[in-house]
Amino acid sequence: MELFPPAACPRLVVKIGSALLVAPDGAVRTAWLGGLAADVAARARAGQQVAVVSSGAIALGARRLGLARGGRASLEDAQAAAATGQIALAGAWAAALERQGLIAAQMLVTLGDLEDRRRYLNAAATLARLLGLGVVPVVNENDSVATAEIRFGDNDRLAARVAQAAGASGVVLLSDVDGLYDRHPAEPGATLVPRVERIDGVIERMADASSGSGMGSGGMASKIAAARIATGAGIPLAIASGRVERPLALEASGERPHTLFAAERTASARKAWLAGGLTAMGTIHVDAGAAGALAGGASLLAAGAVRVEGAFARGDLVGIHGPAGPVARGLAEYDAVDAARLLGRRSDEQEAILGHAPRAALVHRNHMALL
Ligand code: GLU
Repeated sequence: MELFPPAACPRLVVKIGSALLVAPDGAVRTAWLGGLAADVAARARAGQQVAVVSSGAIALGARRLGLARGGRASLEDAQAAAATGQIALAGAWAAALERQGLIAAQMLVTLGDLEDRRRYLNAAATLARLLGLGVVPVVNENDSVATAEIRFGDNDRLAARVAQAAGASGVVLLSDVDGLYDRHPAEPGATLVPRVERIDGVIERMADASSGSGMGSGGMASKIAAARIATGAGIPLAIASGRVERPLALEASGERPHTLFAAERTASARKAWLAGGLTAMGTIHVDAGAAGALAGGASLLAAGAVRVEGAFARGDLVGIHGPAGPVARGLAEYDAVDAARLLGRRSDEQEAILGHAPRAALVHRNHMALL
């Protein structure tokens, strides 16, 4: 059995905790990282696109700078440690992936980048392009500029948001625990929960009883919060141990102990997320051909759009109506003015109209829910 096999999961996000990447003496655990990079390469060869969310900047930087309390004694310390550690962390990833014939790309994002829908679309488009090019995005929080109130603070939730933005169909959180236990793992009789269908109070109480390595900021509570975000967006999430060689080896990965949080039913979860308190700010009317293409899973291209209504901005939710009525809702890649200028136009005509390189679609399928 495989964990998130390529055939069922074309796009995977893998989060790696600090304690896996940074040895107690402050060195990068390069042999382990090399094994993980080999797993990523094998998955890539099997047709799976993998994005990495990597912690470890603060832990690495703190040791290089000799800062107390792992660099977490003050926000300034953490930010200086992150700035120092990130450059080494990115270098370690680039080298490990390069040995496997893969190109790494660094993306540093803040909570604001993924919560603001315009910037969310930018980050999503970059991720999609990198993955489409066969590059492995290595994402971390931009800790050196994010202040306490606007930080994710832990990369577990960041990984869930990245998965949403990347249109991934699975998330694995690798850390020094091998899953959720029904009580503190050190207590006698503690058993691993292999599968969680719904995150309820019982599951949350189990999470409160567990804790982390003290190196990252994660812990079980933030992993459950990440699972809530991912599964709510229709993406299953697994917690698995990275304390093994080759933690994502295709053949063995499913047999090792782990906890899998099942996705909420995809269609309704995506609709709920797109609706999520948002009201549609406008409507894009499309022809019958485009309506059919959307139903088949395509993005909405300008060529199939016939009319724009409302004064929506980039990132706003819009309704998409075919000749027979509403067919989908999604986030607009252009504001209403630019969308109107592109109506009926093919991709190769758009740059001349806009005066800058066009986006791939009026509404991308990753940010669209069919009705
Ligand atoms: N972004 C932090 C780092 O790279 C880690 C956050 C976490 O502990 O999850 O050091």
